[in-house]
Amino acid sequence: MDAGINRCRVAPIVQTGAAVAEGEIVAQGESLAMHASVSGVVERADAEQIVIRRGLAPSTVSALKETSCPQNAADLARIAREMGLVGMGGGMFPASVKLGTGWQIHTLVVNAVECEPGIQIDEALILHDTDTVRSGIDCVTAALAIKRRVLVVKRTAANHIGSFAASCAADVLTMPNRYPAGAEKLIVARLDGRMPPAGLLPVQCGYLVLSVASLWAIGRWQLYREPSILRPLSLVTPSRPTRNLLVPIGTALSHILNTYGIGYNPEAHLLVTGGLMMGARATPKTPILKGTNAIFVQPILRRLIRPEEPCLLCGACFDVCPLNLHPIGMVERIKSGRRSPALATQLDECFLCGACSAVCPAEIPLVQYFRDAKRGLRA
Ligand code: SF4
Ligand code: SF4
Repeated sequence: MDAGINRCRVAPIVQTGAAVAEGEIVAQGESLAMHASVSGVVERADAEQIVIRRGLAPSTVSALKETSCPQNAADLARIAREMGLVGMGGGMFPASVKLGTGWQIHTLVVNAVECEPGIQIDEALILHDTDTVRSGIDCVTAALAIKRRVLVVKRTAANHIGSFAASCAADVLTMPNRYPAGAEKLIVARLDGRMPPAGLLPVQCGYLVLSVASLWAIGRWQLYREPSILRPLSLVTPSRPTRNLLVPIGTALSHILNTYGIGYNPEAHLLVTGGLMMGARATPKTPILKGTNAIFVQPILRRLIRPEEPCLLCGACFDVCPLNLHPIGMVERIKSGRRSPALATQLDECFLCGACSAVCPAEIPLVQYFRDAKRGLRA
């Protein structure tokens, strides 16, 4: 398991050689705790990683002692911290921070858009673990006294999962089948009639946007007192139908590939965690993180290995950016080292959807520049 997640710093509280039980806290931070996703023996515990060798060890423990629903926002934020919840749509932003902002929230937005091609895990959770998702929705709306619930789906999924909305008293918002229609800000722009101002999060405008997987995890806590130790994900491979799996956090990709008999050749295949647009290149040793909503094994296309060429000034990256940013202008300023508050604001707004890179005929990896620059800014 990875000890560090996105904007959360955690430190191990177990020693090498210790026996741990599934659900036991193994690392602690200000914004979240992390739990053993399997029972076994700790092989490594440092600032980088905690490695647990699965084996005969104590059985499951419930690290969460609560017996009733959270009563208010502070309660819910505390539980999110104790259960180790992060945004499971992929962002891995600590949920305790998002829920503990103190902003007046009037609408819970259940984000089931899954606009990246091939991913269908949220749809599967709604269809096959309906009660758990509904329980998470009820828990959050009750704790925050939220008046309105909205289920957001893409057009092609509306018929499949729209009826779920009726069963949990939610309105339905249908988004186009176009990437990146599932972006928080685009959804809130549709609901509110205007784009949230730059620098403001949707939650600061009264909209709490949570992915189906995050609500499912809250539902697991509510029903079973289970901390966040399982990751629902889609396994997408070229020759077989997509599988939707529940995987313990920290499982190495090689284990999943072997279990399902999926051949992987690094010379011929691309291994990606997350979507093909926003995901990251992976290796068989890469562990499943709390934000890993999909694994893709795809044949390498010639286009993916073409070198970067000079900009053609075609403007396609500007036209496609859903936030009307100026991708090539940002890259030029990053390359020349001309940092400015305006560039920092644009980088902060950019949510790394990768649409600009995907349309660039010069193969300029724009989103890679933004990812690196954001990392630099955070550092
Ligand atoms: S990755 Fe590109 S298209 Fe997406 S928000 Fe950032 S600049 Fe815009
Ligand atoms: S899409 Fe590529 S080639 Fe066209 S303006 Fe943007 S960076 Fe330049």
